[in-house]
Amino acid sequence: MNVHDSEKMAGILSETGYMRTDVTNDADVIVLNTCSIRDKAEQKFYSELGRLNKIKKNRPNLKIAVAGCIAQQKGEILFNKFPYVDYVLGPNNIDSLQEWISSRAQNKEHRSQTTALQINPEYHTKTLPVRREGRVRAWVSIMYGCDNYCAYCVVPYTRGRERSRSSHDIKTELIKLAKDGFKEVTFLGQNVNSYGKNLLEDSSFSSLLKALHEVDGIDRIRFVTSHPKDLSEKLIKTMKELPKVCNHIHLPLQAGSDKVLSLMNRKYIFGEYMEKVTMLKQAIPDIAITSDIIVGFPGEDDADFNMTINALDEIQYDGIFAFKYSKRPDTKALDLPDHINESTKSARLKKVLKLQEEITFGKNKRLEGKVLKVLVEGPSNSDKSRLTGRTGNNKIVNFYGDEKDIGQFVNINILQARQHSLFGEKV
Ligand code: SAH
Ligand code: SF4
Repeated sequence: MNVHDSEKMAGILSETGYMRTDVTNDADVIVLNTCSIRDKAEQKFYSELGRLNKIKKNRPNLKIAVAGCIAQQKGEILFNKFPYVDYVLGPNNIDSLQEWISSRAQNKEHRSQTTALQINPEYHTKTLPVRREGRVRAWVSIMYGCDNYCAYCVVPYTRGRERSRSSHDIKTELIKLAKDGFKEVTFLGQNVNSYGKNLLEDSSFSSLLKALHEVDGIDRIRFVTSHPKDLSEKLIKTMKELPKVCNHIHLPLQAGSDKVLSLMNRKYIFGEYMEKVTMLKQAIPDIAITSDIIVGFPGEDDADFNMTINALDEIQYDGIFAFKYSKRPDTKALDLPDHINESTKSARLKKVLKLQEEITFGKNKRLEGKVLKVLVEGPSNSDKSRLTGRTGNNKIVNFYGDEKDIGQFVNINILQARQHSLFGEKV
């Protein structure tokens, strides 16, 4: 989501006449897009800001803006603590960047040292220019904010209430993407399954998928993230019926213990989660399921943690993101008793990651010798002589191919499974 927000900021800057540079010393304007989901991300931002301050000392005309969730949370404090910051804007005010840049161009510095931190209630009605990173896959926001208030999570405080974009606006964006040659879209929202709650039009996520499925030229549709409590039988049926919808779902479990899930305010118990997993696997047998896991949530004892381990064993995810619980300002979990010490959290994280690595590798290994359909995205980051792409169920596949394969579907015979990808040859 943050990467897509950065694409929007880059889009605004491009439209205002700025060009992108990878050389920090060449930049006239630097926008730091920040994340505050865990403390680690926040610390990374502060060290980057310190580095930019040194650069600005030699180049006083350099302008620095801070965007994203830390900007939203800290607001004025950022100006007071870091006087070299020129502008602060929240994730719901990305469009204000335009106004700030224009006032700069006219030498009016009135926006400098002011903030754009009111959560704009109309933000979801805007379609912002986007400077996209690739030319095959594109992210498309379908909703903003979140109403769920999971006890550990800062998102409802930084991104505000849940608001959906109209299906008309989303479809218009998709038609343009198809015209520009994009083949795959990923719909973004904190809880896509509850899409449409604020809209007057009769719209559920299932009907949105059906409407967008009609857009010619877009061959693959993905979405993140699905909240298990809102994953309905109807949606599973829709996923099964619509051929463009990929056989992959990211369905964060967070923890295997009902006690911990309740403390987390996740609004489901493990048994309900498993019913949905069973339904998914029955409807779409080759579906890939991935998840997010938090270890060391306050009150998580050894027995609770073992339930998470057992859950991973039972579900056999294709992949997970796992995190140590991190204290976040404003969240309910701060006040819970029995916070877990750092070394226990680290040991638990290690155990989870090790188990999942074995599961993922085992699953990848079973794909050796199979021919998989891959949408080719471009040169691989780790080895530019190879191309990289994805299968419908989101496995990364690398192979030697031609420039003309980019943007095409190719069949790849899988020769070797790696931990995080597959290697193969064109059939
Ligand atoms: N809306 C999505 C994901 C939001 S953030 C969802 O509900 O699934 C992505 C992931 O970060 C979460 O799923 C959670 O696993 C993790 N996360 C969020 N806050 C965290 C915290 N305080 N400490 C550790 N992990 C956290
Ligand atoms: Fe955070 Fe929960 Fe909302 Fe996801 S659903 S963004 S974890 S509050």
